[in-house]
Amino acid sequence: MSKAFKVALMGNPNSGKSSLFNQLTGLRQKIGNYPGVTVDKKTANIVINDTNIELTDLPGAYSLYGTSQDEKIVAKVLTSHTEELPDLVVYVADCNFLEKQMLLLTQIRDLSIPIILALNMSDLAEQNGLQINGKALAKKMALPITNISARTNQGIAELKKEISQALANLPANNGKSTVFYAFSDIEKRVAEKIKTVVGLDNDYRALLTAHHHSWLAALSNEQKKEIEDFNQATNFDSTGMQIRETMQRYDRFTPILKQVISQTGSGNALTRRLDAILTNRFWGVLIFFALLFLMFQSISVLAAYPMDWVEAGFAFAADLVDGAMPDSWIKSLLIHGVIEGLGSVLVFIPQIAVLFLLLALLEESGYMARAVYLFDDVMQRFGLNGRSMVALISGVACAIPAIMSTRTISNWKERLITILVTPFMSCSARVPVYLILAGVLVSPDARWGLFYVQSMVVMGMYLLGTAGALAAAWVFKKILRSNETSFLMLELPDYRMPVARNVVLTVWEKVKTFVVEAGKIILVLSVILWLLASYSFPGQMAEAEQRAVTTAQEQQLDDEGTEALIAANRIEASFAGKLGKAIEPAIEPLGFDWKIGIALLTSFAAREVFVSSMGTIYALGEVEEPQAREEVKRSRVHQRLKNEYSFATALSLLIFYVFAMQCMSTVAVVKRETNSWKWPLIQLFFMTGFAYLASLITYQILK
Ligand code: GDP
Ligand code: MG
Repeated sequence: MSKAFKVALMGNPNSGKSSLFNQLTGLRQKIGNYPGVTVDKKTANIVINDTNIELTDLPGAYSLYGTSQDEKIVAKVLTSHTEELPDLVVYVADCNFLEKQMLLLTQIRDLSIPIILALNMSDLAEQNGLQINGKALAKKMALPITNISARTNQGIAELKKEISQALANLPANNGKSTVFYAFSDIEKRVAEKIKTVVGLDNDYRALLTAHHHSWLAALSNEQKKEIEDFNQATNFDSTGMQIRETMQRYDRFTPILKQVISQTGSGNALTRRLDAILTNRFWGVLIFFALLFLMFQSISVLAAYPMDWVEAGFAFAADLVDGAMPDSWIKSLLIHGVIEGLGSVLVFIPQIAVLFLLLALLEESGYMARAVYLFDDVMQRFGLNGRSMVALISGVACAIPAIMSTRTISNWKERLITILVTPFMSCSARVPVYLILAGVLVSPDARWGLFYVQSMVVMGMYLLGTAGALAAAWVFKKILRSNETSFLMLELPDYRMPVARNVVLTVWEKVKTFVVEAGKIILVLSVILWLLASYSFPGQMAEAEQRAVTTAQEQQLDDEGTEALIAANRIEASFAGKLGKAIEPAIEPLGFDWKIGIALLTSFAAREVFVSSMGTIYALGEVEEPQAREEVKRSRVHQRLKNEYSFATALSLLIFYVFAMQCMSTVAVVKRETNSWKWPLIQLFFMTGFAYLASLITYQILK
């Protein structure tokens, strides 16, 4: 087999790169990572007209000087001297907003990389009465152009033909001369210098290296130093020159576009009519919240059955192991460590999948861009960004994919704050705890007019979490310093029908991320917790068991009751039990005793463990029927808590669970996304402290 050519899809965000990528590759995609950063790298090996191609879907960018993580990746790939450059770039441009897409195009062209310009969304252009004289544009830009629609498949065959032709004629170079930008004298000198320091042959690539040298991994420290010194000696003003370059490029391509574009219709009438309402300050906000409400209603309805299936599946697996193996520590580890641990994560998959399905539909239809636009200035007040909306909403399903979605926020401070406060949003793992504790606070049948009081308590916790997120954001805004100015680069795309393939692939990716990220950590932690709860100092476990058996005989308990009592005594005697008792003085002011202490500790890594820990501590025994196991467990725990604790303790505990971090997977993801331990640790202390204070105040007032 001959060597595969490297072809990269590039363009602005939302120009249709991923759609085209999906179109060309189907399910052959591999998702990897760019070295050192966490932006997904999607590649696929395909064959077009007997040519082997490694196709890459690069992240979206507006310019090679961009500041978001995605844009830096693009700049890094194109300026790199170590990674291989693409042999060919297919530049995907939304032809309805061609002017915005030209800056990056002309920049790539000046790097002498062969380009094919794919004018995408031509179906929309047709509807909008927009005409682009492709032949004339191709001639002026000196590059091949194809009209395509990644949605309707139109033009894809021609595009493939262009690609194989271009690859057959390599290194035919359609971007040799720099016609869109004239270097200043300083830039010429800098470029010459860098070409010798680094060993480059392209002027513009050398210039980019001068601008970006501080973070380019391909440069050695000596090279960076040399470039730095030279820049200083020549008064190289990086920012000023970037602005000059951008303006000059616009000045040169805008007249060309004027000649080739003609508008016969008057744009998309439907979009304009919808936007009049949906981006309206009053109606838009109202509709947004109505949509949110509907979304959450449908999540509980749609996810309920699949969640039962997952639970039943794990219960079945546990029974299978239970029946097949003799009693031993391995069996206990398998059932109580591995299976229960994994089950506690995987049970959230249906909720997460449904939420991301709905979010993907909003995104694909073009609505999400409106929500971002609508809330941008409110969010700015809290140190956030319109795009933080998307993360905060996703955080209600699970903080992990939500935090990963912040990569599109280009302002570092706003991105960081979004990451730090997203875990305050009540994720699906908190729901079982909320339900139990809300049941302790008010009777399940209590109503207030049409509404159940209990579900209003739960909703109140969601609101409290949101308020906590905004308050924390505001605090971080005041504390963190940054001189980066914020601006929202956003075009409002026309509304359109979502494409099933894109939606399904997005949901698939997010769910996979969740399972892999959360799964591996929960697995390790479940085993550690199992160790802590199953072992103690020599002899103490046996002694606890013996005591339980004696008590059981005195009280004439049946087998089941005896076993439950043994389990309760064991956990009390275990390392986990000792730790729970050790922290009792610290949590007493919050109204908690050592039993809650154990549950808090065991749910430190994953909050949903609370329910089953309480079940064990209170000797509630195992539940036999696999179908309704979790439900029965919940109702037993609930009953027990109700007898045991006061209103004040229950509310204090509930509030603790709203604010505390209690999720090791989130800690791990934040570490990965911020590339340091500093931020996840700050976040952990901040959230735990916040929860402690809130519970303390609640309990002290109510008691
Ligand atoms: P990317 O950010 O460049 O990867 O863009 P995507 O592929 O995610 O596409 C952004 C949006 O544009 C999605 O909602 C797509 O369904 C939509 N889209 C992509 N190509 C076309 C097209 O040719 N016509 C229409 N009408 N919509 C498209
Ligand atoms: Mg994409």
